[in-house]
Amino acid sequence: MRVHAIQTGRVQIKASQVVGRGHGLKRRLAPLIDSEWSACLPTFAYAIEHRDGVILVDAGASAANKSLPRWHPYFRNAVRFDIEPEEEAGPQLRSIGIGSSDVKRVVMTHLHIDHDGGLGAFPTSEILVSPGELEHASGVAGRLRGYLPQRWPKRFDPKPLVLDEVSHGPFARSKRLTADGAIVAVATSGHTRDHLSVIVEDGEAAIFIAGDASYSEATMLAGAIDGVSGNESQAAATLAAIRTFTAGRPTVYLPAHDPDAARRLAERRYVTPRPASAGRGSG
Ligand SMILES: [Zn+2]
Repeated sequence: MRVHAIQTGRVQIKASQVVGRGHGLKRRLAPLIDSEWSACLPTFAYAIEHRDGVILVDAGASAANKSLPRWHPYFRNAVRFDIEPEEEAGPQLRSIGIGSSDVKRVVMTHLHIDHDGGLGAFPTSEILVSPGELEHASGVAGRLRGYLPQRWPKRFDPKPLVLDEVSHGPFARSKRLTADGAIVAVATSGHTRDHLSVIVEDGEAAIFIAGDASYSEATMLAGAIDGVSGNESQAAATLAAIRTFTAGRPTVYLPAHDPDAARRLAERRYVTPRPASAGRGSG
């Protein structure tokens, strides 16, 4: 099965968002006042060519993200995008021969604005979203939380992706996305409460499409909680589960914002466990 890394522009966030500083509310407010920016990070969506059709995991950022509501302190102080329209997921997929109608499903890891920004290019695809994430992102409360529900496509009517109480390796809940079981969504709560990741079977190996479960392979291995996660113990448990998974079988680990993700995918470079102190502080 072929997996494509589609880079939808670049984004900068605060260093204290990549690796959280302190705990609780202090950790979550730090990115708003931190003066240290991260490196320019890619924003990846991932397209899986399955025989039943293409599954796109996240729709990436959009050029509209360059202009964000200024009233929101996060948008005003803590994030900046660099992306042109031709870098959005729709045009990039077309350039490799995948038209929007070839994309049967778009599976959302979560609905943050650099993951749902490109959805407008897939009007006929089935969009799959965790019901809890959809609720969290909707309405005025969603806007306060830093989502942009007002920018969802006009006919945005996602299908609820409800995970079964069926474990998949170390993950407590999961859902097969294809009849052959080759593509499976798993619960990776943390970055958002209902965040999910997608595992692609690749022979003996696995390709783990992580969304923002961690910002990089290094922070996953280090168990570093980001500056966004609401529940630290849940986020830590998810990172531990991912480490358990990647220790158990060869795994290419693909977060949305890891500068090395596309290279690791191209070279089929697997996660190598490192001591827990390594990698802290990297973007
Ligand atoms: Zn996110």
